[in-house]
Amino acid sequence: MDRRLNRDYRARLAIIRVALGLLLCAVGAPIAAGAAETIYIVKRGDSVYSIGRRYGVSPAVLAERNGLNRNFYISAGQRLRIPARRVAPAKKPAAKPPPPSVLPRAVREAIDKAPVRAGRWKSIVIHHSGTDTGTARTMDRYHREVRRMENGLAYHFVIGNGNGMGDGAIAIGQRWTRQLDGGHLASAAQNKTAIGICLVGNFDKRPPSPKAMTSLRLLVEALMTRCRLTPTAVKTHQQVNVRHTRCPGARFPTQSFLKSLPTPKR
Ligand SMILES: [Zn+2]
Repeated sequence: MDRRLNRDYRARLAIIRVALGLLLCAVGAPIAAGAAETIYIVKRGDSVYSIGRRYGVSPAVLAERNGLNRNFYISAGQRLRIPARRVAPAKKPAAKPPPPSVLPRAVREAIDKAPVRAGRWKSIVIHHSGTDTGTARTMDRYHREVRRMENGLAYHFVIGNGNGMGDGAIAIGQRWTRQLDGGHLASAAQNKTAIGICLVGNFDKRPPSPKAMTSLRLLVEALMTRCRLTPTAVKTHQQVNVRHTRCPGARFPTQSFLKSLPTPKR
């Protein structure tokens, strides 16, 4: 069965090849004549109109260039000069569809401008707020006033969920802009080298929104590039402090998110 199919297929290919050959022969024989002009040898059945159409040149221009009479009479074997087609003004390239999403410029700049020392950061750790609503400002106040952290907001970045901050909005904490240690992990040693990102929401109750996940991915990728980190450096809070916490919640898509991170090009 296979062999027969194969034979049929080859026979069909051969027919196509012959047909293509005939087609090529049938086309008049253009001869390049300098960059500007082509010489075309008229075939039986050609008209100034058909040749003009083929080369994108108006019949009047062809007639004038070749001194044809008013009837545009041509005969087989005649050599026609075909002027180069006037180059149409370059069309504006079709507007590229915007990339699916990009980091807001302010975030991009904050990541680039921060004075990141080589080797300063060893990991990026993802948290949830465990609350339904929240903003970088309310968290900052809480960390300052209740948790008595002098540098306030314990995270370097906060991503909103539409309740307080915009859904997927990214707030930049001063711990990032000033390159301060985090305050989001169990020990000072861990906080020294870990960038903290907190997503507003309680992901034990419901998973993060698609917009928040997109922002998280873009942010993490930009930070990986900026700090020369590989995907293995990206962890959830739970993966770092296994016994202390379930953060960022059972419904945070840890595996799929971590797997989706690009391995850096070497
Ligand atoms: Zn956490």
